[in-house]
Amino acid sequence: MNDKRIDGKAVAAELRKEIAAKVEARRAAGLPAPGLAVVLVGEDPASKVYVGSKVKACEEVGFLSQNFRLEASTSQEELLALIDKLNADPQIHGILVQLPLPKQIDVQAVIERIDPKKDVDGFHPYNLGRLAGKAPTLRPCTPYGCMRLLKAYGIDPMGKKAVVVGASNIVGRPVALELLMERATVTICHSKTRDLPGELAQADIVIAAVGIPQFIKGEWLKPGAVVIDVGINRLENGKLVGDVDFDSAYEKASAITPVPGGVGPMTIACLLQNTLEACEAIEG
Ligand code: NDP
Repeated sequence: MNDKRIDGKAVAAELRKEIAAKVEARRAAGLPAPGLAVVLVGEDPASKVYVGSKVKACEEVGFLSQNFRLEASTSQEELLALIDKLNADPQIHGILVQLPLPKQIDVQAVIERIDPKKDVDGFHPYNLGRLAGKAPTLRPCTPYGCMRLLKAYGIDPMGKKAVVVGASNIVGRPVALELLMERATVTICHSKTRDLPGELAQADIVIAAVGIPQFIKGEWLKPGAVVIDVGINRLENGKLVGDVDFDSAYEKASAITPVPGGVGPMTIACLLQNTLEACEAIEG
């Protein structure tokens, strides 16, 4: 039953291996290792887990990682002052501020304060604008991870009908731009979409980024669809599930990402890839 699964863990491991080899080569040539600053504000348990995984992944590939844990009561001015310091720090090539942020902080102001050259999350309007203009620089990690997964499995979006469910700034919109850049015909659905099953019935490629556990049903899918499930939801019994009802979707799909072990590992690997790219661009 494993043949339809897209193994994000394996693809991510391969990318991490390539990155580690490039870091090793930099060191051997006397060049600085990429440096990533990870900033966590507050005590959100899921964010703590994500930040922990990112720091560990950095260390495994030989990056310098600096970890900043700030109180939930941190003011916007304090956070912006830290970003200014990191923007000016020559050892730091990537700055990641873990979202969500406490409500006293304006997320957009924080994103826009990060030097676009160090914006390894790819959320700065400069980097999003580059992606929209088909000349990507640092690309949002999760969408970039989805595209790398498709490529690793030889799935070419060109000419295909792709339906993205979810229109957030961090997943839905940028993944739609990525698909459009690869010449798919793209539809973006959201909470006001009138006939979601009708849209999905036409989709050769489905990207699910809704945030509702097991929301997309197999019966809505076109037979043979490729399904990329970005969702990460924890059920009351502790089980992690995606935004797609995996068992029913597996029956209809030609290829499908599991949760966990699909897009999640690719997001972290693409963060490492972006940090390496940022380092290479900054250091020349
Ligand atoms: P957001 O909550 O920011 O966006 C959700 C989107 O889904 C919105 O565009 C919303 O529409 C849409 N939506 C909500 N309800 C419906 C509905 N009934 N029908 C159709 N569309 C609907 O979520 P994110 O984009 O941040 O995250 C989406 C999922 O991906 C979550 O499960 C999150 O945990 C996961 N995630 C996983 C990552 C990974 O590394 N694998 C990284 C980031 C996120 P509207 O715009 O109208 O409100």
